[in-house]
Parts: sequence; structure tokens; C-alpha cells
Amino acid sequence: MKFGGTSVANFEAITRAVFIVGGRLNQKPVVVVSALSKVTDLLYRMSDAAASQNREEASKLMDELRNRHVNLASELLEQSPALKDEAVAEINRICDKLESLVNAVCAVGELSDRNKAIIISNGELLSSTVICHTMNAKGIRTNFIDARQMMVTSNSYLKGEPVESEILKRVPEVISKAYEGMDAVITQGFIGSNLAGEQTVLGRGGSDYSASLIGMAIDAEKIEIWTDVDGVRSADPRKVENTKYLEKISFEEAAEMAHFGAKVLHPLTIEPAVKKNIPIYVLNSTNPSGKGTAILRSELIEDGVKSVSFKENIKVINIFSMKMINTSGFLRRVFEIFSENRVSVDLISTSEANISVTVDSSEKIDKTVAELSEFAEVLVDDDKSQVSVIGKNIVKLNGMLKRTFAPLKKCNVYMISQGASFVNISFVVDREELTEVVKDLHHHLFEQPEEMETF
Ligand code: ADP
Ligand code: ASP
Ligand code: MG
Repeated sequence: MKFGGTSVANFEAITRAVFIVGGRLNQKPVVVVSALSKVTDLLYRMSDAAASQNREEASKLMDELRNRHVNLASELLEQSPALKDEAVAEINRICDKLESLVNAVCAVGELSDRNKAIIISNGELLSSTVICHTMNAKGIRTNFIDARQMMVTSNSYLKGEPVESEILKRVPEVISKAYEGMDAVITQGFIGSNLAGEQTVLGRGGSDYSASLIGMAIDAEKIEIWTDVDGVRSADPRKVENTKYLEKISFEEAAEMAHFGAKVLHPLTIEPAVKKNIPIYVLNSTNPSGKGTAILRSELIEDGVKSVSFKENIKVINIFSMKMINTSGFLRRVFEIFSENRVSVDLISTSEANISVTVDSSEKIDKTVAELSEFAEVLVDDDKSQVSVIGKNIVKLNGMLKRTFAPLKKCNVYMISQGASFVNISFVVDREELTEVVKDLHHHLFEQPEEMETF
């Protein structure tokens, strides 16, 4: 059971989350928690402040962090003074250690990825401390597991890639030992360590991925992602009105949605679950009796459009070269450069003398562009957005392209890609057009069924 930031944001949310766990003790839950809402953002700001030697800002943020957790623990544990003292002492110990590191970084004004990973991992360490004590105070005998003992990753400190063989070995051992004599165990999402035991993190939003990796390693019956919406919807409800609730979707559909921008799940969450065919349920912690969305294997899911997803901020890299015409090996050379620089490409389209690719805005592409420029003309557009229509077998549905592009009469469409998986039709538009495009497209695909029939 994974609880995201908003599901553990404050007194009410944690009380609700603990109640939800309490209702599932017969299923032997492994609880995975994110940092309290906005805490990871605060820690990023703290690391920036330290790197730029802004002591005043760093210490203001430090006080905010400490006070929020101490006050919350005091409130939640008011009736259990011994647990309260223990939790507050542990919060202070974590914060003192963080403060020494932040002071040291401030002194030199330089922040390595390794130290940044240590700083930003504290949100989960603090939240899990508070919630573990609260569960015990409510009579749920809960053991605390430090995820760094078992979530082994590569050496990439800020975007560790799971070392599956170690995770498969360590997670079941650590969890079954911790479970002895207990009703539940709790651990942190997002954080891990490399083989040398140094702190790493899985990347932003990585707690979903942690939960799924743990689920895979222990052969869980199901993986529950508790968040702040009633399951997965046909589009981001923050951007689009009248989104449709999706009762069930396939692993492939969910993976495509997450990969192409739906923030409700970390893009890699599905992969471990698929390996063991473990269903994932996306549930609303503010409405625990709701059914949520079940993510299941494809055979159990109907064909049809499920979602309009988008990435607001992408980069389009256009590579031109006359050498591409009638020569073999050009594409290989181009993609070797992307691969060597570990830049992940989303969409690709080619013409006679041009290749266009899209990459996520978070990718660092300066070196890639410099290397490509040695043998081609390269232009980077960063005022574009990517829109994806997703659903099982949509590429095979009659008139689907017409239905997708008919509502976009007025805007320019730059790249079009029809996924080989039949699940995805994606295209690129100007960023300033995005909101309208997504709203119109969603309206057309989900709210005008009669009109759709006519295509
Ligand atoms: P958590 O803190 O629980 O991990 P996130 O903020 O990461 O929560 O993810 C939940 C949010 O994802 C929702 O509040 C919603 O705005 C957004 N979201 C984006 N696309 C979708 C979608 N297709 N269905 C549901 N929620 C979505
Ligand atoms: N706390 C981390 C983040 O905000 C991980 C997560 O919430 O999934 O990115
Ligand atoms: Mg999330």
C-alpha cells in the first residue's frame, strides 16, 4: 500500500491513511510512504540554497521542515506521550544530521549529486517516522524498515536504476524478518542505496515505482497506490473538465499514459508489476470506499480510447543533413549519440534529409546537441508540447486518425507518431495551443459520442 504526499499531508490525512491500513491487516500490508506533501520540493530548495551559500534561506527552510514534523507528531501522538517523545527525538536526530550536512555544503558552496541525494531523501525518512509511531499509537504493531537496506540501485545518485537481482533477494528477507510478531511494516518510497551503501533516489515521483518493485519482490497479491483522485481518469482533472472515471485499464495503457505525461503514476511503475502479473489499484485516500481503477493484464480490458495525456514541456530536436540521403549508418550514428549520453527519446519521425525527435524537458541535451552538430545541422525547439491519445488497439479502430485530428482545425501539428504497440497516437503542437487542444480533443473523444459515430 503506497500513500502519496497528499495522502499523508497533515493530521487528517495521516489519520485517514492509518485507518485505511488498519482495515487491511488481514492482508499483511507493506506500507510505503512518500514525503509529506511539498516536503521534497522544500528539500530541493534547501539544497539549492546551500549550493548558492544562502545560509539564511537554508536555515529558514530547515526550521520549517523541523517544525512541521515535530508539530505533526505532537498532534498525532498527543494521547501516547512515550511514543511522542520517541518520535520527536528521532525527528530531531534526522534534522540535526541534515542541518550539519547543509551547513557543510553552505561552507564550500558546492553540491555533489551524492550530497543532494542525501538531502532530498530526508522527506521520506521523516514521514515514515511520524506515520510508524502513529500506527503503533493506534494499536497497529508496526515495524520500521529503512528502505536503504533493500532497495538497491545503480550509482546514479539522483535517478538510481533498480538492481533487480539484489532487490529480489533482499526485499523478501528484510520484510519477512521485520514482520515477525507484527501487524504491519512501513518503509519509504523514493529512496534506496547503491551497492556500496551510499544514498540514492529513484527520481521525482519515484515512490510509486518503489511500491511496485517491492510488490514484485514479495509476490504481492496486489499493489495499491493511494492518492488524491478517484483512480485514473481520461485526462488530468487539473487541466480538463468532465474527465471520465476509468474502472479498469490494461498494464500497457497505464504504462503509456504514465510515460506520456499522466502524473498519477511514475512512468516505470507498471514494469515490475507486469513481470509477476500483479494487479495495481489506484485509489483515493479521501474516498476509501470508492472502487478506484484496476490496472490489469490486457486480455481483461476492452478496446477503445481511454485517455488524452500530454507533456506540456518537451524539446524537439531537428537534425538535418544531406548526408542522410541514400546512406546507411546515419541513423545508427545519431541514436548512438543519444544512447551514449543517456538521453531518452520519446517520438521519432524522419524524412529524406531530416530526423526529428522529442525528449523530455528534464533531459540534459547540450552535449548530445554538440556531438550531433559535428556532422549535421541541429535545431532545438523548446516551445512545444506533446499530446497522446491512448487506448487498447486504437490504432486499428476505423477512423481513429480522423477522430483525433478533426478537432485540431486551427493549430499546427508538427510530428505525428502512431505507436507500433497500437495503443498510442501522439503528436506535437505549439505550447501555447496545448490547453485548448487537450480540452477540445477530450471533449470530442469523450463527450460527443453521437458525433463520433458519424466518422
Ligand atoms: P501522489 O502525491 O499521491 O503521488 P500525484 O500528485 O503524484 O499524487 O498524482 C496525482 C495527481 O495526478 C492527481 O491529483 C491529478 O491531478 C494528476 N493526474 C494527471 N493525469 C491524471 C489522470 N489521467 N488521472 C488521474 N489523475 C491524473
Ligand atoms: N517525495 C518524492 C517526490 O516528491 C517521491 C514521491 O512522492 O513519489 O518526488
Ligand atoms: Mg506521485
